[in-house]
Amino acid sequence: MQPYTPGEQLAPGKTIKLNTNENPYPPSEAVVAAIQHAAAGALNRYPDPVATVFRRAAAESLGLPGPEWVLAGNGSDEILTILVRGFVGENQKLRLPYPSYILYRTLADIQGAAWEQISFDDDWQLPAAFGVTPDDVRLVFLPNPNSPSGTVLLPEQVESLASTMTCPLVVDEAYADFAGANCIDLVKKHENILVTRTLSKSYGLAGLRFGFLVAQPHVVKELAKIKDSYNCDMLSIAAATAAISGQQWLADVVQKMNATRDQMTIGLSKMGFDVTPSKANFVWCTHPSGQHQAIYEFLKKNQILVRYMQFPDWGDGLRISVGTDDQIDALFIMLESYLRNV
Ligand code: PMP
Repeated sequence: MQPYTPGEQLAPGKTIKLNTNENPYPPSEAVVAAIQHAAAGALNRYPDPVATVFRRAAAESLGLPGPEWVLAGNGSDEILTILVRGFVGENQKLRLPYPSYILYRTLADIQGAAWEQISFDDDWQLPAAFGVTPDDVRLVFLPNPNSPSGTVLLPEQVESLASTMTCPLVVDEAYADFAGANCIDLVKKHENILVTRTLSKSYGLAGLRFGFLVAQPHVVKELAKIKDSYNCDMLSIAAATAAISGQQWLADVVQKMNATRDQMTIGLSKMGFDVTPSKANFVWCTHPSGQHQAIYEFLKKNQILVRYMQFPDWGDGLRISVGTDDQIDALFIMLESYLRNV
Protein backbone atom coordinates (compact mmCIF):
# COMPACT_ATOMS: atom_id res chain seq x y z
CA MET A 1 0.00 0.00 0.00
CA GLN A 2 1.27 3.48 -0.86
CA PRO A 3 1.21 5.60 2.33
CA TYR A 4 0.07 9.20 2.07
CA THR A 5 3.02 11.55 2.57
CA PRO A 6 1.99 14.94 3.95
CA GLY A 7 3.91 18.06 2.86
CA GLU A 8 7.22 18.78 4.61
CA GLN A 9 6.91 20.52 7.94
CA LEU A 10 10.18 22.20 8.90
CA ALA A 11 10.89 23.60 12.36
CA PRO A 12 9.63 27.19 12.50
CA GLY A 13 12.41 29.59 11.68
CA LYS A 14 13.67 31.38 8.65
CA THR A 15 11.98 29.15 6.08
CA ILE A 16 9.31 30.71 3.90
CA LYS A 17 6.71 27.99 3.88
CA LEU A 18 4.62 27.85 0.71
CA ASN A 19 4.09 24.10 0.43
CA THR A 20 0.95 23.02 2.33
CA ASN A 21 -1.62 25.71 1.61
CA GLU A 22 -1.80 27.04 5.14
CA ASN A 23 -2.81 30.61 5.89
CA PRO A 24 0.27 32.85 6.22
CA TYR A 25 -1.64 34.97 8.75
CA PRO A 26 -2.39 33.99 12.35
CA PRO A 27 -5.98 33.36 13.45
CA SER A 28 -8.08 36.18 14.85
CA GLU A 29 -7.63 37.54 18.39
CA ALA A 30 -11.11 36.26 19.20
CA VAL A 31 -9.94 32.71 18.47
CA VAL A 32 -6.85 33.02 20.66
CA ALA A 33 -8.97 34.50 23.47
CA ALA A 34 -11.46 31.62 23.17
CA ILE A 35 -8.64 29.07 23.55
CA GLN A 36 -7.30 30.90 26.62
CA HIS A 37 -10.77 31.05 28.12
CA ALA A 38 -11.37 27.34 27.52
CA ALA A 39 -7.92 26.47 28.92
CA ALA A 40 -8.82 28.22 32.15
CA GLY A 41 -12.01 26.14 32.34
CA ALA A 42 -12.82 22.51 32.98
CA LEU A 43 -10.04 20.62 31.19
CA ASN A 44 -10.34 17.82 33.75
CA ARG A 45 -13.69 16.98 32.09
CA TYR A 46 -14.31 15.32 28.72
CA PRO A 47 -15.46 17.58 25.90
CA ASP A 48 -18.96 17.53 24.40
CA PRO A 49 -18.71 14.43 22.14
CA VAL A 50 -20.67 16.11 19.35
CA ALA A 51 -19.32 19.69 19.62
CA THR A 52 -22.82 21.18 19.88
CA VAL A 53 -21.76 24.81 20.31
CA PHE A 54 -19.60 24.62 17.23
CA ARG A 55 -22.30 22.94 15.16
CA ARG A 56 -24.82 25.57 16.20
CA ALA A 57 -22.44 28.40 15.27
CA ALA A 58 -21.56 26.72 11.96
CA ALA A 59 -25.24 26.28 11.07
CA GLU A 60 -25.84 29.95 11.78
CA SER A 61 -22.82 31.18 9.79
CA LEU A 62 -23.57 28.95 6.79
CA GLY A 63 -27.32 29.49 6.71
CA LEU A 64 -28.20 25.90 7.57
CA PRO A 65 -31.48 25.01 9.28
CA GLY A 66 -29.75 23.70 12.44
CA PRO A 67 -26.80 21.91 14.08
CA GLU A 68 -28.09 18.50 13.02
CA TRP A 69 -26.77 19.30 9.51
CA VAL A 70 -23.16 19.42 10.77
CA LEU A 71 -20.69 16.76 11.94
CA ALA A 72 -17.46 18.04 13.53
CA GLY A 73 -14.12 16.30 13.14
CA ASN A 74 -10.44 16.40 13.94
CA GLY A 75 -9.50 18.12 10.68
CA SER A 76 -11.37 17.43 7.47
CA ASP A 77 -9.02 14.48 6.94
CA GLU A 78 -10.83 12.75 9.82
CA ILE A 79 -14.17 13.53 8.20
CA LEU A 80 -12.92 11.98 4.95
CA THR A 81 -11.87 8.89 6.91
CA ILE A 82 -15.30 8.64 8.52
CA LEU A 83 -16.94 8.92 5.10
CA VAL A 84 -14.85 6.15 3.57
CA ARG A 85 -15.39 3.98 6.64
CA GLY A 86 -19.12 4.61 6.49
CA PHE A 87 -19.79 4.18 2.80
CA VAL A 88 -17.12 2.00 1.19
CA GLY A 89 -16.78 -1.64 2.18
CA GLU A 90 -14.13 -4.14 1.21
CA ASN A 91 -14.37 -5.01 -2.49
CA GLN A 92 -16.31 -1.83 -3.16
CA LYS A 93 -14.97 1.25 -4.89
CA LEU A 94 -14.22 4.87 -4.31
CA ARG A 95 -14.07 7.23 -7.30
CA LEU A 96 -11.94 10.34 -7.51
CA PRO A 97 -10.79 12.74 -10.20
CA TYR A 98 -7.16 12.77 -11.36
CA PRO A 99 -4.98 14.54 -10.53
CA SER A 100 -6.43 15.48 -7.14
CA TYR A 101 -5.94 14.88 -3.41
CA ILE A 102 -3.87 11.71 -3.02
CA LEU A 103 -5.16 10.95 0.48
CA TYR A 104 -8.49 9.68 -0.91
CA ARG A 105 -6.73 6.69 -2.45
CA THR A 106 -4.85 5.93 0.75
CA LEU A 107 -8.11 5.93 2.71
CA ALA A 108 -9.59 3.42 0.29
CA ASP A 109 -6.44 1.25 0.57
CA ILE A 110 -6.65 1.29 4.38
CA GLN A 111 -10.27 0.22 4.14
CA GLY A 112 -9.35 -2.70 1.86
CA ALA A 113 -11.46 -1.06 -0.83
CA ALA A 114 -10.62 -0.29 -4.44
CA TRP A 115 -10.42 3.11 -6.09
CA GLU A 116 -10.68 4.39 -9.61
CA GLN A 117 -9.54 7.68 -11.04
CA ILE A 118 -11.22 9.64 -13.81
CA SER A 119 -9.00 12.23 -15.44
CA PHE A 120 -9.80 15.88 -15.80
CA ASP A 121 -9.57 17.10 -19.38
CA ASP A 122 -7.06 19.75 -20.47
CA ASP A 123 -9.36 22.52 -19.19
CA TRP A 124 -9.82 20.85 -15.80
CA GLN A 125 -13.38 19.80 -16.58
CA LEU A 126 -14.74 16.33 -15.86
CA PRO A 127 -16.40 14.07 -18.43
CA ALA A 128 -20.12 13.31 -17.90
CA ALA A 129 -18.97 9.71 -17.25
CA PHE A 130 -17.67 10.92 -13.88
CA GLY A 131 -21.30 11.12 -12.78
CA VAL A 132 -22.27 7.68 -14.03
CA THR A 133 -21.62 5.23 -11.22
CA PRO A 134 -21.79 1.45 -11.53
CA ASP A 135 -23.08 -0.50 -8.51
CA ASP A 136 -19.68 -1.15 -6.96
CA VAL A 137 -18.80 2.57 -6.76
CA ARG A 138 -20.09 3.57 -3.32
CA LEU A 139 -18.60 7.02 -2.83
CA VAL A 140 -17.24 9.77 -5.07
CA PHE A 141 -14.86 12.49 -3.93
CA LEU A 142 -14.60 15.81 -5.73
CA PRO A 143 -12.26 18.45 -4.32
CA ASN A 144 -13.72 21.81 -5.35
CA PRO A 145 -11.60 23.91 -5.78
CA ASN A 146 -9.37 21.07 -6.87
CA SER A 147 -5.85 20.54 -5.62
CA PRO A 148 -3.31 20.88 -7.21
CA SER A 149 -4.99 22.94 -9.95
CA GLY A 150 -7.05 25.44 -7.92
CA THR A 151 -9.79 25.13 -10.55
CA VAL A 152 -13.50 24.93 -9.73
CA LEU A 153 -16.61 23.35 -11.10
CA LEU A 154 -19.67 25.59 -10.77
CA PRO A 155 -22.44 24.43 -8.41
CA GLU A 156 -24.69 23.70 -11.40
CA GLN A 157 -22.00 21.45 -12.91
CA VAL A 158 -21.65 19.62 -9.58
CA GLU A 159 -25.42 19.24 -9.35
CA SER A 160 -25.57 17.81 -12.84
CA LEU A 161 -22.79 15.26 -12.09
CA ALA A 162 -24.49 14.22 -8.84
CA SER A 163 -27.87 13.83 -10.53
CA THR A 164 -26.73 10.70 -12.39
CA MET A 165 -24.88 9.13 -9.44
CA THR A 166 -26.33 6.25 -7.47
CA CYS A 167 -24.04 6.93 -4.48
CA PRO A 168 -23.07 9.98 -2.38
CA LEU A 169 -20.91 12.69 -3.91
CA VAL A 170 -18.59 14.33 -1.38
CA VAL A 171 -17.62 17.83 -2.45
CA ASP A 172 -14.39 18.53 -0.56
CA GLU A 173 -14.55 22.28 -0.04
CA ALA A 174 -11.27 22.68 1.84
CA TYR A 175 -10.56 25.75 -0.35
CA ALA A 176 -14.09 26.97 -1.12
CA ASP A 177 -13.85 30.13 0.99
CA PHE A 178 -11.32 31.45 -1.56
CA ALA A 179 -13.58 30.63 -4.53
CA GLY A 180 -16.64 32.76 -3.83
CA ALA A 181 -19.01 29.87 -4.64
CA ASN A 182 -19.86 26.65 -2.86
CA CYS A 183 -22.27 23.73 -2.80
CA ILE A 184 -23.86 24.18 0.64
CA ASP A 185 -27.25 25.02 -0.90
CA LEU A 186 -27.10 21.83 -2.96
CA VAL A 187 -26.86 19.80 0.27
CA LYS A 188 -30.26 21.15 1.27
CA LYS A 189 -31.78 19.92 -2.01
CA HIS A 190 -30.03 16.58 -2.53
CA GLU A 191 -29.36 13.89 0.06
CA ASN A 192 -26.52 12.47 -2.03
CA ILE A 193 -24.50 15.72 -2.02
CA LEU A 194 -22.26 16.08 1.04
CA VAL A 195 -19.81 18.91 1.67
CA THR A 196 -16.62 18.82 3.76
CA ARG A 197 -14.92 21.92 5.10
CA THR A 198 -11.75 22.66 7.06
CA LEU A 199 -10.59 25.43 9.37
CA SER A 200 -6.97 24.74 8.35
CA LYS A 201 -6.88 27.04 5.34
CA SER A 202 -9.03 30.18 5.25
CA TYR A 203 -9.41 30.36 9.04
CA GLY A 204 -5.66 30.00 9.69
CA LEU A 205 -6.03 27.06 12.07
CA ALA A 206 -4.04 24.20 10.51
CA GLY A 207 -2.28 23.64 13.83
CA LEU A 208 -5.58 23.14 15.62
CA ARG A 209 -7.06 20.26 13.56
CA PHE A 210 -10.71 21.02 12.97
CA GLY A 211 -12.98 20.24 10.05
CA PHE A 212 -16.60 19.39 9.49
CA LEU A 213 -19.19 17.79 7.26
CA VAL A 214 -22.39 19.39 6.02
CA ALA A 215 -25.04 16.81 5.08
CA GLN A 216 -28.72 16.12 5.56
CA PRO A 217 -29.54 15.25 9.19
CA HIS A 218 -30.18 11.53 8.62
CA VAL A 219 -26.76 11.21 6.98
CA VAL A 220 -25.03 13.11 9.81
CA LYS A 221 -26.80 10.93 12.36
CA GLU A 222 -25.58 7.68 10.79
CA LEU A 223 -22.00 8.87 10.29
CA ALA A 224 -21.81 10.16 13.89
CA LYS A 225 -22.18 6.52 14.99
CA ILE A 226 -18.77 5.62 13.59
CA LYS A 227 -16.66 8.56 14.77
CA ASP A 228 -14.37 8.27 17.79
CA SER A 229 -16.20 9.19 21.00
CA TYR A 230 -14.33 12.42 21.72
CA ASN A 231 -12.90 13.29 18.34
CA CYS A 232 -12.68 17.05 19.00
CA ASP A 233 -11.10 18.42 22.16
CA MET A 234 -12.37 21.24 24.35
CA LEU A 235 -9.79 23.80 23.22
CA SER A 236 -10.36 23.22 19.54
CA ILE A 237 -14.14 23.25 19.90
CA ALA A 238 -13.90 26.66 21.61
CA ALA A 239 -11.47 27.99 19.00
CA ALA A 240 -13.44 26.65 16.05
CA THR A 241 -16.66 28.14 17.41
CA ALA A 242 -15.04 31.57 17.70
CA ALA A 243 -13.50 31.19 14.24
CA ILE A 244 -16.69 30.22 12.40
CA SER A 245 -18.53 33.07 14.13
CA GLY A 246 -15.97 35.58 12.78
CA GLN A 247 -17.21 35.89 9.21
CA GLN A 248 -15.94 39.47 8.78
CA TRP A 249 -12.40 38.39 9.78
CA LEU A 250 -12.71 35.58 7.23
CA ALA A 251 -13.88 37.88 4.43
CA ASP A 252 -10.99 40.28 5.09
CA VAL A 253 -8.27 37.62 5.12
CA VAL A 254 -9.69 35.90 2.04
CA GLN A 255 -9.72 39.20 0.15
CA LYS A 256 -6.09 39.85 1.09
CA MET A 257 -4.94 36.34 0.15
CA ASN A 258 -6.86 36.34 -3.13
CA ALA A 259 -5.20 39.63 -4.09
CA THR A 260 -1.79 38.06 -3.41
CA ARG A 261 -2.78 34.96 -5.41
CA ASP A 262 -3.67 37.13 -8.39
CA GLN A 263 -0.31 38.94 -8.12
CA MET A 264 1.42 35.55 -7.98
CA THR A 265 -0.36 34.50 -11.16
CA ILE A 266 0.70 37.68 -12.96
CA GLY A 267 4.29 37.57 -11.68
CA LEU A 268 4.88 33.89 -12.43
CA SER A 269 3.39 34.27 -15.91
CA LYS A 270 5.76 37.17 -16.62
CA MET A 271 8.64 34.87 -15.67
CA GLY A 272 7.51 32.40 -18.33
CA PHE A 273 5.57 29.97 -16.14
CA ASP A 274 2.32 28.52 -17.39
CA VAL A 275 -0.01 29.24 -14.46
CA THR A 276 -3.43 27.60 -14.11
CA PRO A 277 -6.01 30.27 -13.13
CA SER A 278 -6.72 29.47 -9.48
CA LYS A 279 -9.69 30.02 -7.19
CA ALA A 280 -7.85 28.65 -4.16
CA ASN A 281 -5.00 29.84 -1.92
CA PHE A 282 -2.31 28.32 -4.14
CA VAL A 283 -1.34 28.20 -7.77
CA TRP A 284 -0.27 25.34 -10.00
CA CYS A 285 2.44 26.19 -12.48
CA THR A 286 4.77 24.58 -14.96
CA HIS A 287 7.77 25.99 -16.77
CA PRO A 288 8.72 25.32 -20.40
CA SER A 289 12.20 24.26 -19.20
CA GLY A 290 10.57 21.34 -17.38
CA GLN A 291 13.02 21.89 -14.52
CA HIS A 292 10.41 21.71 -11.79
CA GLN A 293 12.28 19.45 -9.44
CA ALA A 294 15.46 21.48 -9.83
CA ILE A 295 13.55 24.70 -9.15
CA TYR A 296 12.01 23.14 -6.02
CA GLU A 297 15.46 22.05 -4.79
CA PHE A 298 17.05 25.42 -5.55
CA LEU A 299 14.28 27.22 -3.63
CA LYS A 300 14.58 24.81 -0.72
CA LYS A 301 18.32 25.37 -0.52
CA ASN A 302 17.47 29.05 -0.26
CA GLN A 303 14.94 28.54 2.52
CA ILE A 304 11.79 28.68 0.42
CA LEU A 305 9.62 25.61 0.50
CA VAL A 306 7.12 24.98 -2.33
CA ARG A 307 5.51 21.68 -3.34
CA TYR A 308 6.99 19.67 -6.19
CA MET A 309 4.34 17.25 -7.43
CA GLN A 310 4.63 14.44 -9.90
CA PHE A 311 1.59 12.58 -11.18
CA PRO A 312 2.32 9.35 -13.09
CA ASP A 313 1.03 9.34 -16.70
CA TRP A 314 0.13 12.98 -16.36
CA GLY A 315 3.11 15.20 -15.58
CA ASP A 316 4.76 17.28 -12.92
CA GLY A 317 4.89 20.87 -11.73
CA LEU A 318 5.00 23.17 -8.75
CA ARG A 319 2.16 23.99 -6.39
CA ILE A 320 2.88 27.24 -4.58
CA SER A 321 0.77 28.42 -1.64
CA VAL A 322 -0.20 32.04 -1.14
CA GLY A 323 2.11 33.72 1.37
CA THR A 324 2.39 37.25 2.66
CA ASP A 325 3.32 39.83 0.01
CA ASP A 326 6.88 39.98 1.44
CA GLN A 327 7.23 36.21 1.17
CA ILE A 328 6.09 36.27 -2.45
CA ASP A 329 8.52 39.10 -3.24
CA ALA A 330 11.31 36.91 -1.80
CA LEU A 331 10.08 33.95 -3.89
CA PHE A 332 10.12 36.03 -7.06
CA ILE A 333 13.67 37.29 -6.43
CA MET A 334 14.87 33.72 -5.98
CA LEU A 335 13.00 32.42 -9.04
CA GLU A 336 14.37 35.23 -11.19
CA SER A 337 17.87 34.39 -10.07
CA TYR A 338 17.34 30.72 -10.97
CA LEU A 339 15.78 31.47 -14.35
CA ARG A 340 18.65 33.77 -15.39
CA ASN A 341 20.76 30.64 -15.84
CA VAL A 342 18.19 28.50 -17.64
N1 PMP B 1 -8.95 18.26 1.36
C1 PMP B 1 -8.03 18.79 0.55
C2 PMP B 1 -8.35 18.90 -0.91
C3 PMP B 1 -6.81 19.24 1.06
O1 PMP B 1 -5.89 19.75 0.23
C4 PMP B 1 -6.56 19.13 2.44
C5 PMP B 1 -5.26 19.63 3.02
N2 PMP B 1 -4.18 18.77 2.88
C6 PMP B 1 -7.53 18.54 3.26
C7 PMP B 1 -8.73 18.13 2.69
C8 PMP B 1 -7.33 18.28 4.73
O2 PMP B 1 -7.38 19.37 5.51
P1 PMP B 1 -7.41 19.24 7.09
O3 PMP B 1 -7.28 17.79 7.48
O4 PMP B 1 -6.27 20.06 7.57
O5 PMP B 1 -8.73 19.79 7.52
